Amino acid sequence: MAEILKYDIVIFGGGTSGCSCAYTCAKNNLKTLLVEKNNFLGGLMTGGLVVPVMKSSVENLNCNYYNDLVKLSKKFNAQITYKDKNDGWFNPQLLKIILDELLNFSNLDILFETYPTKASVNKNKVVDTEIKSDILSLPIEAKYYVDATGSADFSYLCNCEFIPQNEIQQLSSLRFVVGNVNLDKFCEFIKQVDDDENITNTYRSDIDTNNELHFTTASVNDDNKIWALDKYLKKGVEDNILKESDRAYFQLFSIAGSNNEVAFNCPRMFNYKDNPFMMSNELKNARRAIYRLYQFAKRYFPGFENSTITNIASQTGIREQRRVKTRYMFTKDDLISQKHFSNPVLKANYSIDIHGDKKNSSVLQKTLPYELPIDALISAQYDNLFVIGKILGADFSAHSALRVQKSCMSMGEAVGKYIKNQI
Ligand SMILES: Cc1cc2nc3c(=O)[nH]c(=O)nc-3n(C[C@H](O)[C@H](O)[C@H](O)COP(=O)(O)OP(=O)(O)OC[C@H]3O[C@@H](n4cnc5c(N)ncnc54)[C@H](O)[C@@H]3O)c2cc1C
Repeated sequence: MAEILKYDIVIFGGGTSGCSCAYTCAKNNLKTLLVEKNNFLGGLMTGGLVVPVMKSSVENLNCNYYNDLVKLSKKFNAQITYKDKNDGWFNPQLLKIILDELLNFSNLDILFETYPTKASVNKNKVVDTEIKSDILSLPIEAKYYVDATGSADFSYLCNCEFIPQNEIQQLSSLRFVVGNVNLDKFCEFIKQVDDDENITNTYRSDIDTNNELHFTTASVNDDNKIWALDKYLKKGVEDNILKESDRAYFQLFSIAGSNNEVAFNCPRMFNYKDNPFMMSNELKNARRAIYRLYQFAKRYFPGFENSTITNIASQTGIREQRRVKTRYMFTKDDLISQKHFSNPVLKANYSIDIHGDKKNSSVLQKTLPYELPIDALISAQYDNLFVIGKILGADFSAHSALRVQKSCMSMGEAVGKYIKNQI
């Protein structure tokens, strides 16, 4: 039996929220272990190809990690500030290297390709755990445990209670990137066909972007609005290049530090649910859809003529899965009524944003600034177990607003600071 390794804190999941928590703990001199099942850090920000960070236009709290990430990414030419002042446009590939660099502390051990297999609990405490890689199992004991897995894997091992699934679930997507695109040509095209500055806009700044050209555009097949690009998607369906389902949600962004690549926030996966057989099949369907969307762009979009698929997300884009029962269950009413909490974890105003599974069931509802209490991140059953990121204790609608990256990073930082104060 291997000797038990002891830490102040063990964090499971080195993704969006987990990296922030590990960084904060390490900076605060806690002996920290970060356990990540992928062979890189970043989670959805890297493996999921999820760019950019959605903007929240209020002064957020607990943003030291985020600001340090922006600062270091600038040095790698892997970040831009868009014209709406959103400085969260990162390069997902370079971010893997940047996160290794940012999280380089002597009191922080990072284990890749490793995951928890057991947890033992006693009354209201998690006592210890076992983690496993391909070649070794290791017993670990910590004062505090943080589940940042996005799927609540560690909480599951601890037999935590989960919040029952909502009737409507957030749809998942498999994101991908197309390279060798002539962005000048494509941006000219979208500016001509869609002059709606809210949806389609382009930006070139000598100062922030090394003269890179950037853009964002989208098209959604709902009845409340006619989207300019939809006539091309419709034509793609008529010409048998696309399927009707490919029109459901179509969104494109440029990528910082890679000025011939375009990130696709699609296709949606309507049947990624219920059981592993259906989910696996749906991943194959998603890759077929990616090929259709790529062929479509090549044929109908000026600038894509010589393009090629350069990346398909290695991490599935799951917007919402398990949410853990916490000491305080944050609700849509709390969010809408702008309920105040002492020492909030974050302040944000990102919208209630539901990717519904039926036509016209999606929601993008603007909100006023809201706060989140720390108790929505502490397990209801165990005093030393924290849940951060998209598994937090919030109802379905409140979760849809809080799941964005900047808020997830603030959760990680707030929990790191909270634990520091307890030790
Ligand atoms: C398709 C899609 C589009 C989105 N678009 C945007 C957007 O444009 N802007 C925005 O701000 N937000 C967006 N979001 C939301 C946001 O990206 C996520 O909610 C957020 O990144 C979740 O962070 P997290 O830390 O909870 O999970 P993740 O970032 O997924 O991190 C979880 C980490 O845990 C690891 N892990 C999982 N299981 C284990 C295990 N058993 N053991 C060890 N490690 C494990 C994973 O490998 C991963 O590294 C989007 C989400 C999706 C799915």
